[in-house]
Amino acid sequence: MSMEDGKKGARPAVDAAAVSRRTLMAAAGCSVALMGLGALKYAGTPAQLRPPGGQDEERLMAACIRCQKCFGACPRRIIVPAKLESGVLSVRTPVLSFDDSYCDWCAEENGGVPLCVSACPTEALHLPPEATAEKTIIGMAKIDQKTCLAFRDTGCRYCYDACPYDAIELRTDDGTNPRPYIIEDRCNGCGACESVCVSLTAGALASSASERAVVIRPIEKA
Ligand code: SF4
Ligand code: SF4
Repeated sequence: MSMEDGKKGARPAVDAAAVSRRTLMAAAGCSVALMGLGALKYAGTPAQLRPPGGQDEERLMAACIRCQKCFGACPRRIIVPAKLESGVLSVRTPVLSFDDSYCDWCAEENGGVPLCVSACPTEALHLPPEATAEKTIIGMAKIDQKTCLAFRDTGCRYCYDACPYDAIELRTDDGTNPRPYIIEDRCNGCGACESVCVSLTAGALASSASERAVVIRPIEKA
């Protein structure tokens, strides 16, 4: 008799009832896990900053095959894969990062026709024919007055100068140096202001901040 045979021989008799119980438990576990995933979906993932044409979150999540073609098509390299913090189901779907540049709907590179939308093979990114950059709301700029250098009377106005939509106004509050305020009706979340904000690199003034003083926030679903 071989060693293997010996092991086989040493195996305890199979208890059909126990297997059946184990099988049921495993099946129940799978169901709970699947229900958990379903619940995650319906609990809703956090709102995301999506490329143009990705604002219908349900459509994007249903159609996106995570092929990342839009990432490569973006001449500004501002489309990045969503990480786990964006929700389990969103991982590797396209989100925007305005660290180095912003979205101008490929105006310079493609005459204002978003290359990411054309590159998407599944129409997960989809724009109606009448869509325009001004009217397609990607997100909304928010200024943190605690870390904005202008609110420390430095006269900083990089965001104001960068905004292509005149969506930032400078106001002088009680004789202070001008400070920026967002005009929400005009902001489409293009990210130009965030991409030029120097608050994080301006040394000790904002040393406790972990993000720039102006950031684009996703629009929360109703
Ligand atoms: S090209 Fe379309 S399908 Fe591919 S990752 Fe981008 S949105 Fe998703
Ligand atoms: S995101 Fe910034 S740059 Fe873009 S429209 Fe809004 S305020 Fe202007």
